[in-house]
Amino acid sequence: MTGEAQEDCLFCKIVAGHIPATVVRETDTTVAFRDINPQAPTHVLVIPKAHYPDAASLATGAPDLAADVLRETKAVADEDKLDSYRVVFNTGGGAGQTVFHAHAHVLGGRGLEWPPG
Ligand code: 5GP
Repeated sequence: MTGEAQEDCLFCKIVAGHIPATVVRETDTTVAFRDINPQAPTHVLVIPKAHYPDAASLATGAPDLAADVLRETKAVADEDKLDSYRVVFNTGGGAGQTVFHAHAHVLGGRGLEWPPG
């Protein structure tokens, strides 16, 4: 919750460069990289470099950083020339969150149905 890197966190390891990822954008505070199991032609994850376990703790613990992440989702969409796209923060296991380091999914490049499953 403090923003400090966690030894057992997959996305902290990507931030540190200990696990490879296809990075599409990087800022002082965020990294954006392609999802290893893409669900759409564009499926990029935007993460804060600092560790917050989910979007809720990021929003309350570091709102400026949450804004950085949201701004980067738009930059990713612009780079992939997406007119329409979806930004998803799965928050909690019941909503499908499997990696407990806050991340925004940016999905686009195909039609997206609503409601999601
Ligand atoms: P969640 O289910 O937590 O919302 O999303 C986690 C995402 O991380 C999933 O879409 C999953 O495919 C992706 N993912 C899991 N492990 C890795 C990895 O090692 N590298 C990359 N690039 N993506 C990963």
